[in-house]
Amino acid sequence: MEQLALTAGRELEHATAEEILTWASETFGARWCVTSSMEDAVVAHLASRVQPGIDVVFLDTGYHFAETIGTRDAVAAVYPVNVITLTPRQTVAEQDAEYGPRLHDRDPDLCCALRKVAPLATSLEGYDAWATGLRRDDSPERADTPVVGWDAKKRKIKISPIARWDQDQVDAYILEHGVLTNPLLMDGYASIGCEPCTRRVAPGEDARAGRWAGRAKTECGIH
Ligand code: SF4
Repeated sequence: MEQLALTAGRELEHATAEEILTWASETFGARWCVTSSMEDAVVAHLASRVQPGIDVVFLDTGYHFAETIGTRDAVAAVYPVNVITLTPRQTVAEQDAEYGPRLHDRDPDLCCALRKVAPLATSLEGYDAWATGLRRDDSPERADTPVVGWDAKKRKIKISPIARWDQDQVDAYILEHGVLTNPLLMDGYASIGCEPCTRRVAPGEDARAGRWAGRAKTECGIH
């Protein structure tokens, strides 16, 4: 699998997003999925055109904005996809009882590990590959994102069909296809995660500057 990922990553580097997802569909059949934070439905929409009925996995951490949950529900209602909502082992109340309230303020890495990393790892056991909306221009840490790569931790193939896109290409795709987007994108948020760990960004700030603002943390640990 690792060799397959590396070869595909090289061969598909200049392929379109549709071509990359078509390769995924032909290679993995039902054993791949899309993961979505419900910031927008671009990758879910792309994948649904290539493989109607594709699983779209959403991590409901219990801390999402109402707008994010609404976007998930709209995606499930409008597109030919199978939205799967994952929940952590514990509710927020159960986690508060065991670890104390507002773990996200005191130890966000542990909070993300409990509420994002663990449930996703369990869910991905049923797949060989997963597709994400990662882009190289998201952040310096994502600048080398391959369009198809090997996730050594999860031992899965990770597909990033829009890795080479910039924001203008995303906006153009959304406009052309009327793709569903999270309403918070129109309200000053550029990257949308859990409500306690997400703030609006100022003009000129990096899109991900509003995530875990004031902390060194830049990723939740699932990538
Ligand atoms: S983003 Fe924040 S609230 Fe969400 S799981 Fe991570 S630390 Fe917890």
